[in-house]
Amino acid sequence: MHDHDTSLLRYIIDSVEVGVFAVNQDMEVILWNRFMEGGSDRKAHEVVGKNLFDCFPELPRKWLERKIRNVFLLKNYSFTSWEQRPYLFRFSHNRPVTGNIDCMRQNCTFLPVKDQSGEIQSVCVTLFDVTDTSIYAEMLNESLVKLEETSIRDGLTGVYNRRYLEEFLAKEFGRIKRYGGTFSFIIIDLDHFKKINDTYGHTVGDKVLKIATERFSNYLRTADIMGRYGGEEFAAILPETNLAGAVIVAERLRSALTDSPLVIADLSLEVSASLGVAEFHPDDGKYEQLIQTADSALYRAKENGRNQVAVGDRENTLPTDNTSPG
Ligand code: GH3
Ligand code: MG
Ligand code: MG
Repeated sequence: MHDHDTSLLRYIIDSVEVGVFAVNQDMEVILWNRFMEGGSDRKAHEVVGKNLFDCFPELPRKWLERKIRNVFLLKNYSFTSWEQRPYLFRFSHNRPVTGNIDCMRQNCTFLPVKDQSGEIQSVCVTLFDVTDTSIYAEMLNESLVKLEETSIRDGLTGVYNRRYLEEFLAKEFGRIKRYGGTFSFIIIDLDHFKKINDTYGHTVGDKVLKIATERFSNYLRTADIMGRYGGEEFAAILPETNLAGAVIVAERLRSALTDSPLVIADLSLEVSASLGVAEFHPDDGKYEQLIQTADSALYRAKENGRNQVAVGDRENTLPTDNTSPG
């Protein structure tokens, strides 16, 4: 190569916004470009000819040495992304401080450099600054988390989630307490659901939850709020509905499941549910009491043999006397 070519190459290597360095078999630095100088605050003449790990004891020696040795050995190009290892060298970045990204994120490549005889003389490592990518990835992640936090739907069934149900219940409770009127609350728990999962697998279990949701929805009015309360538990809030009305609705929800088997692929499953019903009571202090009343009714429905509706007995579910029935 002519001198002119070499200095042109040198010029290019020093001008690119990419870290470039190379080491020989002894892990001695033989090339250190300007980007590396800027990031590490070490001039080429300070590191070239010296052992890389002596110069930078903070490097992940075991990992990096193995990585480089493998390139010598296998004569293959290799790559690491910031997602696996956020950075090789701890360089500062010039972006405004964002979230957890405190230093430059780097993608690295490891290139075998051959001489004329085809022998690997050195390994050239490049560091790409991917801080921006990682900042966007972090922002995206944060938005997804927020979206989930503000979501009001259950991911599997599409009905309201527990948080929304409770929020709605709290509001409705406050509203009725203030302005009068009534409403009811139904809690639904599928019977022996664990057995369905255990026998047919989780995927079938999930499908049962979806079909059950669809069937329940068919028997509710648009003003009613139905949601998934937990794993195989659902709840419905029935505005302007007294206990007698709610029991009728609950009975319909119960038979929505048992009317006909649930068909999933080539399976035909008999599924039932137990339900607890409670009506708003003006003496209840908090909406949680209404949930408790419905919950202990549900417990009784289970105790009495499942596949049935039980009515909340508020007197037996006050916090002071909240023993299990039976
Ligand atoms: P019981 O009649 O007393 O209610 O019996 P059960 O088996 O329905 O009650 P248990 O609470 O013991 O079991 C509920 C099961 O629901 C356990 C759990 O594996 C399952 N489960 C919870 N969430 C999900 C889900 O999202 N998908 C599936 N497939 N199963 C779930
Ligand atoms: Mg349950
Ligand atoms: Mg159950």
